Amino acid sequence: MVTRVGNTPTRTGHRSSYRDPRREWSTSLIVLLLSEQVLERKLAAGELSCPGCGACLVPWGFARRRVIRTLGGSRTIVPRRARCSSCKMTHVVLSSEVVPRRRDDAGVIGHTLLRAANGARAAEIAREIGRSRETVRNWISRFSNNALAAEVIGTQALFRFDAHADPMRLVWRATPLARAVEALGLCVAALVRLFGPLRPGTTPWSVVNVVTGGHLLSAELGP
Ligand SMILES: [Zn+2]
Repeated sequence: MVTRVGNTPTRTGHRSSYRDPRREWSTSLIVLLLSEQVLERKLAAGELSCPGCGACLVPWGFARRRVIRTLGGSRTIVPRRARCSSCKMTHVVLSSEVVPRRRDDAGVIGHTLLRAANGARAAEIAREIGRSRETVRNWISRFSNNALAAEVIGTQALFRFDAHADPMRLVWRATPLARAVEALGLCVAALVRLFGPLRPGTTPWSVVNVVTGGHLLSAELGP
């Protein structure tokens, strides 16, 4: 499962040129459930297609190194860049744990949203995960603004994976944020029922990151 993030394509894939990080993120692809080795193999075999024109992507160096914070610590990633063999646009390929433009991975942000959906206060969550209260408030506020769209996206995906799901289950959640988290969670559960357990290293929030096109906290989220 591959999804495109952002609307603004970069104009160059030249490895030595200056790259504005905002533009770099803007053409990110998120690849779900692939190890880096599998990604390399698929890229080399021309099995990943350009989100702009559908032609095959070829390896095109690497994006800048960055540190991603997880619930267990942090890790350094050097995302792969790929270039379209036809339209020549370049794309940054991210694994599903990486949320574009965020230093924290999908597991950290998702944990925060799940705790907020269950009534935990921002200060309490901030203490648990070792982030500032402002950061946690910001995530909750941004996701709350997206809650309706996230609920729709989660519910639509849920019915794609499980035609017999019970939509009334969402009604019983008290807040829009909680309904959105519930819908996204049900969608992941349905996907697991259909395709089997997630691969090691992939969290339910990695799946949510892909289902929401990397826009979990961005104003661009829309069904
Ligand atoms: Zn293309």
